[in-house]
Amino acid sequence: MPRFAVILPAAGSSARFGAPKLVQDLAGIPVIARAVLPFIQRADTHQILIATPNDPFATAGPSQQNLARLDNRLSAGRANELWDALSREPAVKNRLGGQIALVPGGPTRAESVWSALRRVPADVEWVAIHDAARPLVSQDLIDRTLAAAVEHGAAAPAVAVPWTIKQASGPLPARVEKTVARDALWALQTPQIMRRDRLLRAFDECIYPMQHITDDLQLLELAGEQAWLVAGDERNIKITTPQDLMLAETLLARR
Ligand code: C5P
Repeated sequence: MPRFAVILPAAGSSARFGAPKLVQDLAGIPVIARAVLPFIQRADTHQILIATPNDPFATAGPSQQNLARLDNRLSAGRANELWDALSREPAVKNRLGGQIALVPGGPTRAESVWSALRRVPADVEWVAIHDAARPLVSQDLIDRTLAAAVEHGAAAPAVAVPWTIKQASGPLPARVEKTVARDALWALQTPQIMRRDRLLRAFDECIYPMQHITDDLQLLELAGEQAWLVAGDERNIKITTPQDLMLAETLLARR
């Protein structure tokens, strides 16, 4: 299997959580450190880039001079909080500043990914983008997503949508337009794995505003490239609200 770079978008505002969610303790280990750990345990992880908040110039042009300047600005505020949380886990702390680097994120998830992607060396063929807010990802899930990506060019895990879905122009109350057939709907998870150069090109060619890009496969779809789904894992939840953190604790206790 090829070596790959891991990008963890971690520059969100945690608005729905009500406090910085990535530094929260989850059974003794911060959420962000739990999201990193499965990747540092792998021999095929080349490097891990964590896109962090708190940089007002993160979307500046990608010249080397700019990048060097931006990297120097990561010493304060929420980026510092993330660094501290990562340092609480010894296996992660050892690699901070080496295999693991903090880089400036952007105002949207897509721009955070783009900012990190531009720093992946050209000789690293594959990138795995994993939400920093998904602390329960398993090695099996990474393995099967990587295998499908290598076979098809790009892949991500997904789970069946369990709900009956109605289409209506919100906010509610709103009149129902139709019921959407759910057997063709899949809820996307991460890691999303694809070729570095394809994703970079898809970003360069994307004509849509970045706030409309909610995941990474979407960029490839818009560029006319193939993207495949593999079986996700119901336990690979994304921490969005405090209830999710409680659920993650329960899932960990049953492992
Ligand atoms: O907000 P949500 O939890 O859906 O975001 C998914 C991931 O994207 C989170 O790990 C979050 O920190 C990250 N993100 C980011 N930059 C933003 C917004 C979100 O890296 N501007």
